[in-house]
Amino acid sequence: MTAKQFVLQLKQDGILTEGVKNDNTYLHLKTPCKVHLTDNATKLLRDSYESKVEKGGVLVAVPKKVGDTTHLTVDKIIFLTNVSQTPENSYLPDSDELSKALNDTYGGQTENSFPIRFHTHPTHSDNPVNELLHYLFQSNTSQQDQIVSDYPVSIGELNILMPRSLVLCSGQMSHNRMFIGFYNGLIAPIEFESHRNEQIQKAMEKVMDSITEWAKKDENKVLAIGGGILLAFLIIRFYKVSIPLILMLIAMIPFFTNDQHGQPQYFASVDKGKVTIDFP
Ligand SMILES: [Zn+2]
Repeated sequence: MTAKQFVLQLKQDGILTEGVKNDNTYLHLKTPCKVHLTDNATKLLRDSYESKVEKGGVLVAVPKKVGDTTHLTVDKIIFLTNVSQTPENSYLPDSDELSKALNDTYGGQTENSFPIRFHTHPTHSDNPVNELLHYLFQSNTSQQDQIVSDYPVSIGELNILMPRSLVLCSGQMSHNRMFIGFYNGLIAPIEFESHRNEQIQKAMEKVMDSITEWAKKDENKVLAIGGGILLAFLIIRFYKVSIPLILMLIAMIPFFTNDQHGQPQYFASVDKGKVTIDFP
């Protein structure tokens, strides 16, 4: 199938649908949608990650409609050379390589597929604590990322707006952790912060609930009060240490939330192996 035939077929199958943003009409994925990254795909992303420079390319996503859900399976990844003058904080793909990748995916000779463009953010620091903080706080789209994500791919008169992806790996402290998020494409938020805050809120409530439940039991009451006094004492005694420590623990909550154990939406924190991300 040519790229245009492929796109029109997907529109007919209800995998793509029309949407309007800023008076422009786009074809975009229809939700509910699930993106499946195979073992191979997460391994490729992790192995090629560089903590000092931005890298990027396209995730090759093969679509399939099952019931009313669109499934996109990513097993192959095409890396595109970063030609930016400042690769330590920006990503600009080589334009020839990019057009070849777009042709190869949309108009695939063996299998037509979607290109989901992705780039990485570096997390390197000589200090492992900073590296962890970079991992936590760099895992969001920059203003430039957000602007660029509104640029569609044109095939004839059709403008296709696919979500984009951001990838990060944590450094020395737990270098097997990988963040992968999807934004925009008219089906996902343009940034991860607000959704993440919601997740942190939920995780905090869960922790507080279980502490409350635990403290309600008679045999735990004395311990809970004792623990409270001990904690207060520790905070006063080691004031300078405790507060950053507590902040640090709070900041680390995303590490424990929204991974494979739950049902990740828009982004996931992956230990190893495959992952499925939901677009409700
Ligand atoms: Zn970026």
